[in-house]
Amino acid sequence: MTEIYRPETIVAAAGVASDATHRAVSPPLYLSATFGWRDPEEKPAYDYSRSGNPTRSELELALAALEGAARGVITSSGMSAVDLPLNLVAPGELVLAPHDCYGGTFRLLSAHARRGDFRVEFIDQTDPIAFAAALAKRPKLVFIETPSNPLLRITDIAAIAAASKAAGAIVVADNTFLSPALQQPLSLGCDIVVHSTTKYINGHSDVVGGAVLAKDKALGDELAWWANCTGVTGAAFDAFLTLRGLRTIFPRVERQQETAGLVANALAADERVARVYYPGLPGHPGHEIARRQQKGFGAMLSVEFADGVDVLGLLRGLNIFTIAESLGGFESLVCTPATMTHAAMTPEAREAAGISNRLVRFSIGLEHSQDLIRDIFAALDSVEAPSSSNVAYLRKQSEAHAC
Ligand code: PLP
Repeated sequence: MTEIYRPETIVAAAGVASDATHRAVSPPLYLSATFGWRDPEEKPAYDYSRSGNPTRSELELALAALEGAARGVITSSGMSAVDLPLNLVAPGELVLAPHDCYGGTFRLLSAHARRGDFRVEFIDQTDPIAFAAALAKRPKLVFIETPSNPLLRITDIAAIAAASKAAGAIVVADNTFLSPALQQPLSLGCDIVVHSTTKYINGHSDVVGGAVLAKDKALGDELAWWANCTGVTGAAFDAFLTLRGLRTIFPRVERQQETAGLVANALAADERVARVYYPGLPGHPGHEIARRQQKGFGAMLSVEFADGVDVLGLLRGLNIFTIAESLGGFESLVCTPATMTHAAMTPEAREAAGISNRLVRFSIGLEHSQDLIRDIFAALDSVEAPSSSNVAYLRKQSEAHAC
């Protein structure tokens, strides 16, 4: 597409009627691993699907347009997307990452550091003093994840990107939690955006995939070179399904975040809830930054239940929410990060990041908001002492523990 279209038009029109042979309205799926050359000296646009594939290109172009990138790379998973920019970091150089990043990212960076591929420091990027001290060490790459997983901490992307770039670092943002429908980190000063397309971008929980989008063409070319070199590019069929899912991202995300707001408010008003982590709540410490840098508050929320609430029992009592890792699909999911998504972190790292055993993460899907709220409260009531005050309930719990 040569004209500048609005994002909704980009996703609806991506690749439509682009098939020169039959003018297929829905772009065809090219599963071929290899492509014929007309002449041994004339390299075709596509010669081998690891290096380039027409179906993958459609998704790449659509995501690059949505994120305002010069070039994109579609990878086999979100983790390979997170890993790809790390090829730009040499031994001895430093990577700065948030202390509450996704557990898989924490594991990947720690494993690289242990092996001596580079050094890594995990810091609270919402703490300006800690961040300035870390920047003084001249990192090669600064990794941002906002909203963070699972505590929905909001990082001021423009401020972190400007300071990091002034210190000479490459700035990479993981935009998985919001998707390009709600946030564009490249427009806020980042160099690279990474996604687990497994989540909102595909939105149907039937593909594992990733994307890396670079603002600058030369940087994008370098990342594409590494993706081909290491073989982490995504499969054509996965790209086909992901583009299919992407078509509906705007109405999906809009509805899911509206429901998330209703769920967050309902839970925040309950005495059995110690704290709701949702950037849409005015009391959330990142609320004002989120208003400024996001187009919405998203559909993820985490809840710290009060002492005495049987958190695991609550999960077992849910009917609509499925206990599962992942997020961003049409279906509502629930997990306990300490035992599931963030089990790869050491208990000390989890404690430093504020991820307690009482924390429950909800990914809100497309079910009716009232059904979801009723499901949570029915499960909560089932683990709560019937008709007694919280104080009496807690007393009962402590007596039970004393036995
Ligand atoms: N980044 C974030 C923020 C995630 O939540 C996840 C997975 O949950 C990943 C990256 C990794 O993505 P994938 O599971 O597609 O490899």
